[in-house]
Amino acid sequence: MIATDLRSGVEQLGDMIAEASTIVPFTGAGISTECGIPDFRSPGGLWSRNRPIPFDEFVASPDARDEAWRRRFAMEPTFAAAKPGRGHRALAALYRAGKIPAIVTQNIDNLHQASGFAAEHVVELHGNTTYARCIGCGKAYDLAWAKLRFEETGGAPDCAVCDEPVKTATISFGQAMPEDAMRRATELAQHCDLFIAIGSSLVVWPAAGFPMMARNCGARLVIINNEPTEQDDIADLVIRHDIGETLGPFVGN
Ligand code: NAD
Repeated sequence: MIATDLRSGVEQLGDMIAEASTIVPFTGAGISTECGIPDFRSPGGLWSRNRPIPFDEFVASPDARDEAWRRRFAMEPTFAAAKPGRGHRALAALYRAGKIPAIVTQNIDNLHQASGFAAEHVVELHGNTTYARCIGCGKAYDLAWAKLRFEETGGAPDCAVCDEPVKTATISFGQAMPEDAMRRATELAQHCDLFIAIGSSLVVWPAAGFPMMARNCGARLVIINNEPTEQDDIADLVIRHDIGETLGPFVGN
């Protein structure tokens, strides 16, 4: 059912939150747009400017690796300046209140951790862009190291241990999904009584399967997004409004 207006949507959401004992939020890029990080698919989003670099191209092509790192360094002022928004802070308040055991996110911006979620309670389906990893041995690197290597060599960094390429710790198209995160997200979706999809176009699979999975396992499903999604039909409540405006009332003190 689509909420007729913002106020009635917020009221119905408040009732559902009060009635729920285990809430699992599932977030996408839309929750971070008010923090200054563009999403992928809105006008002006990242895809209108840059074609994504698939994983096999990153592995095969030094030019693609250089380009991937140039883009990442260009985004660094944006990521570094971003602070949690009203959506992040509302979810952190519900987490502190014991309503949310863990959050499932497609985001790579680390803003749920910055809002107060313990790192072990943030299930990152698409990784995290605030650090890097070797694609061979998995050694973690910070971005300052990658930047220094890029400046010294004029190209994308390779691992100091095994010489394989180092990539931001994100999941690119064509790259295997992280098994542990997929397993934990599945358990959370199957064992909650309220699942709230927030700021996702729900078109990137397999992540987009979790709202449906939660609904099929008996949870109520709420979708908060400012444009229609393909799963609106199966949701108990659709709030087609701005995320900050919708979740702002739940931020608390
Ligand atoms: P998406 O770009 O496909 O969809 C975002 C949705 O949020 C859109 O439908 C848009 O209309 C909506 N939206 C944007 N701002 C909103 C607002 N203030 N209020 C309400 N709705 C709003 O993003 P996705 O579904 O997360 O999938 C894209 C992939 O992009 C993800 O897998 C993620 O890894 C990656 N990504 C992450 C970030 C980030 O970490 N912040 C940013 C861009 C892309």
